[in-house]
Amino acid sequence: MDTQVETLEFEAEARQLLQLMVHSIYSNKDTFLRELISNASDALDKVRLEAFRDKDLDVDTSDLHIDIEVDKAQRTLTVRDNGIGMSRNEVVQLIGTIAKSGTVEFLHKLKDLKGKDAAAAPSSELIGQFGVGFYSTFMVADKVTLVTRRAGENRGVRWESSGAGTYTIEPVDDAPQGTAVTLHLKPEDKEDQLFDYTDEWKIREIVKRYSDFIAWPIRMEVERRDSDGNVTRETETLNSMKALWARPKDSVAEDEYKEFYKHISHDWTDPLEIIRMQAEGTFEYQALLFIPSRAPFDLFMRNRKRGVQLYVKRVFIMDDCEELMPEYLRFVKGVVDAQDLSLNVSREMLQQDRQIQLMRRRLVKKVLSTVKDMMTNNRDRYETFWKEFGRVVKEGLVNDLENRDSILEIASFESTSDPEKPTTLRQYLERMKDGQQHIYYMTGESRAIIESSPHMEAFRAKGFEVLLLTDPVDEVWVEPAGEFDGKRFQSIAKGQVDLDTEEEKKAAEAQRDQQQKDFADLLAWMTNTLETEVKEVRLSSRLTSSAACIVGDAHDISPTLEKMYRAMGQDMPHTKRILELNPTHPLVTSLQKAFDERKDDPGLAETAELIYGMALLAEGGELSDPSRFIRVLSDRLARSL
Ligand code: ADP
Repeated sequence: MDTQVETLEFEAEARQLLQLMVHSIYSNKDTFLRELISNASDALDKVRLEAFRDKDLDVDTSDLHIDIEVDKAQRTLTVRDNGIGMSRNEVVQLIGTIAKSGTVEFLHKLKDLKGKDAAAAPSSELIGQFGVGFYSTFMVADKVTLVTRRAGENRGVRWESSGAGTYTIEPVDDAPQGTAVTLHLKPEDKEDQLFDYTDEWKIREIVKRYSDFIAWPIRMEVERRDSDGNVTRETETLNSMKALWARPKDSVAEDEYKEFYKHISHDWTDPLEIIRMQAEGTFEYQALLFIPSRAPFDLFMRNRKRGVQLYVKRVFIMDDCEELMPEYLRFVKGVVDAQDLSLNVSREMLQQDRQIQLMRRRLVKKVLSTVKDMMTNNRDRYETFWKEFGRVVKEGLVNDLENRDSILEIASFESTSDPEKPTTLRQYLERMKDGQQHIYYMTGESRAIIESSPHMEAFRAKGFEVLLLTDPVDEVWVEPAGEFDGKRFQSIAKGQVDLDTEEEKKAAEAQRDQQQKDFADLLAWMTNTLETEVKEVRLSSRLTSSAACIVGDAHDISPTLEKMYRAMGQDMPHTKRILELNPTHPLVTSLQKAFDERKDDPGLAETAELIYGMALLAEGGELSDPSRFIRVLSDRLARSL
C-alpha cells in the first residue's frame, strides 16, 4: 500500500471560498471551464517561455495543447495540458491557499454584507468583481482530482478534494508532464443551471463562447458519422486560436473582446472601454487595452498583479509589464504585442529601450484621450470611470508632468456648486463670477469638514464656488500644478483673500482702517501671547459667523501635507500659521474691550489660547495639548454658571 497519502487542511479563507462555490453562488456555472482552460493556457505560455530561456530544461514543446476528455459512464470531465505543471509545494501553495489579497478582502466584504442583512444573498455584482479560478470547479463537481508534474521534475503529484475542509496529496510516479484536472460531475440539474458537461455540444458551445481566442489548440475527441452511417472517432480542435489584437478590427465581435478581457483580467464584469491601437513602420506593435468598469480591491495594495501583458510576435513574454504603463494607469489591462523585440527580452532591457519608452508614451496618451472622449460622448460612463479610478489617475498629476494638462482636463472634483455631482475644471471655469481670477479650493479630510470650516464663510456668503479636495493625493498635486487654462489654483485657507469688488472695497475702506487702529494693540499682544503656535494674529476678511480661523501663508505647506511627510519618516519643521480674527464677532469684540480695560488679567491669555484652539478644531485639526485645552475651557464654563 502507498503510505504516502497525506491529508491536509485548506487554509481558512480558501475554505470559505470553497463553501461559496459548493453552495453555488454563481448562477452561470459554465464559466468553470473557462477558468480551467485559462489556467491551462497560462501553463502552456509558461513552459514555452521557460524552455526558451533554459535550454537545459528537459521538455518537449513541439506539441503544446489542451485536451478535453469526457467519460459519460463515469460522469467525469478532464482538462489536460502539457504545460509547466506544479511541484508538490506549488500545489499546496497555489491550490490550498489563497495568495491573492483581493480575494480575502472580497470574502470579508461578503461577510459584512451578510451580517448587515442576513436576507440579502451576495449580489452577483459583488461576486462578479473577480474570478475565483480553480475553485469554481466545485460549482459543478463534487470531487476534483488534479494530477500534475512540473517540467524538469521526474515525479508527479496527485491532489484530490471534495471541496470540504481537507484535501489529500500523494506522489505519483507515472504522471505525464503538465496538469490534468478531472471533475467528478454533479448530477445534471437544469433548473440550477447545472448542465450535462459531458455533452459534446455543450462543451463546444462553452469553448467557442469563452475561449475561442486562446492561442493554444483546445482539442477533443468527437464522434463522426459518415454518409454510410459508420461512427468514427477523431480529434478536433474546437477553438480558432486567433489572437484578437491581430485580427482586423471589424471582424471581432464585442463579445469576443469581453471574453478576452475576462481571460486576461480575471474580472468577471464587462470592461468599461476597449482600446485598440496599431502602429506600423519601424517599430511595429499592436495593442488591445481595456479600462475595467470597477476598481479591483487591490488597487492600493503593493504586490498587485496583472496589468498589461507583453507579447512578442504572438508569444507571451510577461504579465504586468510595468514598462508599458505608468503606476497611475495601473488599472488598465490588456495586451501589447511588439514585432521587433527579442523573445529573450528582460525587464532591464525594456527599461532602457527607447522604442519601449516611445510606445509607452503613445499608450498613455491614447488611454487619456479615450477617457476624454468618454467624457464628451458618454458622460455616465465617464462618471463611473472617475468614481472608480479618479484617485489613482490623480497620482499622474504628481508623477507625469508631461501629461498634467491632459489629466487635469479629464479630472473631476467635488465642489460647492453641487452636493452630489463632481465638476470638471472646464465646468468650473464656465461658472466663474465676473472678475474672478482664481480657481478656489480647499483640501481636507472630508466634504463635511471642509464645508463647515470657517474658511468657507465669506466664499459662501459671496457665492464663490470652491472645489473640495478630499483625497490625500490632492494635497500633493494641487500646489505644484499651479494653474489650469490660465487660472491659478488658490487655496481658500492660505494667504489673504480678496473677494470684494472695487466698490465694496471703497465702501469698506474707512471701516477697515478704523478696525485696524482699534485692534492694533490687541493683535500685537495676541501675536506675542501665542508666539509658540502662530506667526501672526491679524484681522480677517474671510469670516462672517466664526470668531477665528487659521490660515497659511501663500506658499506654506499645508498641515495635512506636513503630517503626511512626517508619517513617511521625513523630518519636517512645524510650520507656524496665521490666526485670523473676525472683528465683528462678539467674542472678539468683548476680548478687545476686556483687553482695553485690564491688560494684566491672566484670564485674557487663556481666552486667546481658547480662541486659537477652537479655530484649530473648526478646521478639523488636532490640538497639541487637548487635556490642557479641556481644563482651561471647563474652568471657564464653571465660572460662568
Ligand atoms: P488564478 O488562475 O486566478 O491565479 P487559480 O485558483 O485558478 O487562480 O489558480 C491558482 C494558481 O495555480 C495559478 O495562478 C497557477 O499558478 C496554478 N495553476 C492552476 N492551474 C494550473 C495548471 N493547469 N498548470 C499549472 N499551474 C496551474
